[in-house]
Amino acid sequence: MVTALDIKKKALELGADLVGIGDIRLFEGTTPQHDPKMILPKATCVIGCAFRVPRALYQTMHDQVQYLNYAQLGVRLIDEEVSEIFPLRLGAMVEDAGYDACVQRNVSNLMVKGDKSTNPEVFDTYELKYAEAVAPGKPAPDVILDVAQAARICGLGAIGDSGHVLAKELGPYVRFVFIITDMPLECDPPFEGTLCDHCGKCIASCPGHAISKEGLDTWQCAVYYKGAHETNPFMHDDFLKGSAEREKILSGEKRFDSESARTLYPQESFLPTEPMRGYMPALCGKACDYACYHHLKETGRL
Ligand code: SF4
Ligand code: SF4
Repeated sequence: MVTALDIKKKALELGADLVGIGDIRLFEGTTPQHDPKMILPKATCVIGCAFRVPRALYQTMHDQVQYLNYAQLGVRLIDEEVSEIFPLRLGAMVEDAGYDACVQRNVSNLMVKGDKSTNPEVFDTYELKYAEAVAPGKPAPDVILDVAQAARICGLGAIGDSGHVLAKELGPYVRFVFIITDMPLECDPPFEGTLCDHCGKCIASCPGHAISKEGLDTWQCAVYYKGAHETNPFMHDDFLKGSAEREKILSGEKRFDSESARTLYPQESFLPTEPMRGYMPALCGKACDYACYHHLKETGRL
């Protein structure tokens, strides 16, 4: 019989940095579009695995000497490659024991129907607004897990004021994959509270003023993640040349919504190459997460 300990041992062997198992009952009340039981109705638990993003990749952006390795190795590689091979291999262990393993990777460029936010890491996102439920009681496809909720229920971490999950041991330098399964496994307690102490350093560090007491404005973030600010080392005089709003945009004073952000995107061409497979370099240096990580270290929470 395969136990929770066996699954955790295998996950760590296969390269996960953290693993936790969340009780499916704790997802009760979740919006159907994010509900793991809508994906696997007989599910008993969710296996959550966290992968570190090397801290040096944030340091090189902070030092303004290198940006592309974060986008390609810290984001795309983990989400597109590690997060595909890893859960398939761990899922095989679950299947061999006679249970189902519904493997879940980060879906970077799709938003469930009704989700009007965006993911700044990719060039643009698409809301599945034309999807329709095929029968009463079913949600419109695709159902996509809420990563922050699943990470919390699996006991791995919880969201901070930055709008990003702060994981135990890893802080904001982390990415996740999940397996929804009907395997009867001993579950971990959910993550209690959050590592965030509301210090405000993520708010102060964002060049686009995308974080406030109300949370993260993903459209504002997307514009400044892509580089529309004074501290972007690739900034050039031709950017918004002649626009009456240039200074207001560069200083982070202008507020963007989905329409105005998308209008600006084509002009945010700061590098001579197209974004590789749609993943944008973080020309803000992920200043919010850098500030947060160092604050958590200095205050002894990591
Ligand atoms: S920087 Fe401070 S306020 Fe922001 S998420 Fe981290 S701990 Fe919370
Ligand atoms: S620092 Fe970058 S990633 Fe963080 S909120 Fe601002 S634009 Fe977004």
